[in-house]
Amino acid sequence: MMEISKCKNKKCQRPLPDSYKHKYCENCRNEHVKRIKDAGKAVAGVVVLVGAPVLAFVTKGKINPKK
Ligand SMILES: [Zn+2]
Repeated sequence: MMEISKCKNKKCQRPLPDSYKHKYCENCRNEHVKRIKDAGKAVAGVVVLVGAPVLAFVTKGKINPKK
């Protein structure tokens, strides 16, 4: 007996094909990618503002020569 997998999106719940490897249906995945791309732009901005100094700090800590 095979359990039919459904899209994990509670609002969607579309049945997924047998060999489907993803938890979300194609439609939801597209929506998700769109959101990630939009969020990615925002995150990229934050990373440039906040992440760069932090990264520099972390890297210095690791590369710090022995004293
Ligand atoms: Zn879905």
